[in-house]
Amino acid sequence: MRRGSSKIRLLIGAGIVLFAVIKYCSSAETNPYTGEKQHIALNEEQEIALGLQAAPQMAQQHGGLYPNENYQAFVDQVGNRLVNNSIARQTGYRYEFHLLADKNTINAFALPGGQIFITYALFSKLENEDQLAGVLGHEIGHVVGRHSAERMANQGLMEGILNGVAIGIDPNTAQGAAAIGQMLNMSYGREDELQSDDLGVKFMIESNYNPEEMIGVMEILKAAAGPNRTPERMSTHPDPENRVEKIKEAIEKYRNQ
Ligand SMILES: [Zn+2]
Repeated sequence: MRRGSSKIRLLIGAGIVLFAVIKYCSSAETNPYTGEKQHIALNEEQEIALGLQAAPQMAQQHGGLYPNENYQAFVDQVGNRLVNNSIARQTGYRYEFHLLADKNTINAFALPGGQIFITYALFSKLENEDQLAGVLGHEIGHVVGRHSAERMANQGLMEGILNGVAIGIDPNTAQGAAAIGQMLNMSYGREDELQSDDLGVKFMIESNYNPEEMIGVMEILKAAAGPNRTPERMSTHPDPENRVEKIKEAIEKYRNQ
């Protein structure tokens, strides 16, 4: 009798483990836009909700929005041209482009679901519209590649976030603040950056921008990084020099398609 019940317990235990493994494996889906297999527990609506929740805090960290509406309209125009001429449009994401007032931090970043930011410090260093398209195209690449959601899944942030998303994340609760804070400080992997460069080049070509200007963006980022490099974070774009070769390859690849 005793032996029998411990056997049953063992079976139940094994069943639970098996269920967890199956659940993880079945959460793998192929990203239809990049062809990449990813384990992501969030759906598009949840990604959008999460990005919208975190966007005000992101803006706040960079001095709010830049007050000049003409510059903001220009950023919108370039961003929307990239979206409307590429696969980005076929996604369910809601793209919004924000010019931030920050005059010191040379940066651009994307939140899940389509919230995209560029600081005035970076905007003012750009030499032409094509370079702006390069920056925004790269960030759209992070959204389409679902890099934030993937990172969160890998870091085990999902459970808290899913609970939060179900009821709407409240940044004022400890859980909401922690989830958003972690997302804002998250770092992308090198593979994510290279894929975003690749997608950015693709979007530029599809939208009739000169993709060579992506290399100009790398030079600006390289000059900005200087000798005192900050740690690689979500908000930075590591090793611009090493990315140029891959960008050149992407230009060749997509030009000949
Ligand atoms: Zn990036």
